Amino acid sequence: MAIGREARTDDLDLEKVGVKTNPKNKKLIASASEQTNVPHVYAVGDVLDGKPELTPVAIHAGRLLARRLFGAKSELTDYDNVATTVFTPLEYGCIGLAEEDAIAKYGKDDLEVYHSHFAPLEWTIPHREDNACYAKLICVKSLNEKIVGFHILGDNAGEVTQGFSVAMRCGATKADFDSTIGIHPTIAEVSNTNIHIPGYHKVVGARGNQDCLLRLSPAFVLSKL
Ligand SMILES: Cc1cc2nc3c(=O)[nH]c(=O)nc-3n(C[C@H](O)[C@H](O)[C@H](O)COP(=O)(O)OP(=O)(O)OC[C@H]3O[C@@H](n4cnc5c(N)ncnc54)[C@H](O)[C@@H]3O)c2cc1C
Repeated sequence: MAIGREARTDDLDLEKVGVKTNPKNKKLIASASEQTNVPHVYAVGDVLDGKPELTPVAIHAGRLLARRLFGAKSELTDYDNVATTVFTPLEYGCIGLAEEDAIAKYGKDDLEVYHSHFAPLEWTIPHREDNACYAKLICVKSLNEKIVGFHILGDNAGEVTQGFSVAMRCGATKADFDSTIGIHPTIAEVSNTNIHIPGYHKVVGARGNQDCLLRLSPAFVLSKL
């Protein structure tokens, strides 16, 4: 069960210096430079409102803030496209926006969402269940199908997601994924080449509601080896 967390800022007496907090979670509200409404008070890490609660995020933001304050640098932490993983037995990894957030930001009509249900090739021999893994790409049509959301549920999703986060930060589009030649047999290949090679998948869903449901057939892949 994921119930979320709130900050224990009550006993910091922030109200005495006038630092604003979000009443819902008691976290500090700050600008893009992590500066609160009190100019000499900054917030990084979990205590900062509206940002991912992750160790590497806290470390990165702290490092850049120190450089800005004491090192004459100006780089801000870019909180977009931060990759993260839920380390459940079948891992889930994501980068960027959830589909609901993408709809709120870009509008449903401007999105193309690609789904893949698949089973890793290595599951074929032990006869593990079919289509237990899933991947989704959320693309913005008016931005040349730039990918704004990447989601994958499968073995080693953390490792896969970490790699793709670099591509997302570089502004990868669906066409970039399509033209990337995969490593076979890997889990990650489903996110680029395999789902787009004619014959390696079959469409099992309708495209009418902007959804393109693709299904990788392990038997077909094996027949092609
Ligand atoms: C169960 C769990 C699992 C997690 N797993 C992962 C994971 O797998 N990967 C990942 O990236 N992140 C994970 N996280 C999140 C990660 O732990 C946090 O994002 C990260 O620790 C945030 O760092 P921070 O420095 O902002 O805060 P913290 O690590 O919470 O550090 C804050 C420090 O301030 C101290 N402190 C608090 N109040 C005061 C005070 N008044 N005076 C002095 N000191 C004070 C606290 O004791 C603490 O040491 C997990 C968190 C939890 C709870």
